Amino acid sequence: MVTYSYRCRQCGDVDVRAPMGSAEPRRACPRCGEWAVRRFTAPRVGRGDVAVWRARERTERSAEQPEVVSGLPPRQGGPRVSRDPRHARLPRP
Ligand SMILES: [Zn+2]
Repeated sequence: MVTYSYRCRQCGDVDVRAPMGSAEPRRACPRCGEWAVRRFTAPRVGRGDVAVWRARERTERSAEQPEVVSGLPPRQGGPRVSRDPRHARLPRP
C-alpha cells in the first residue's frame, strides 16, 4: 500500500492509502465525496524511522556546514599497558 495525496476543494489536502500503481488523477474525497485531484509530492521515505531521519538530516546539514577536521581525534584510553606481571619480565629492546 502507498499513500497518495489528493487536494479537495472542501477539505484541502487528504491522504489516501491504495495499492501501488492504482492512483488515479481524480478520485472522490474520502471525507466529503467531492472530486479531489492528485497532488504530486516527494516520496515519504524514512518518516517513521529515526535512524534514517537522522542520517538524512546529517547529510543535508553537511552540504552547507561540513564538519572540518583540523587534527587527529583524541586517543582512546591512552597507551595500552598490560597488568600481567609476566609481561614485565619479558626482554626489552
Ligand atoms: Zn473533501
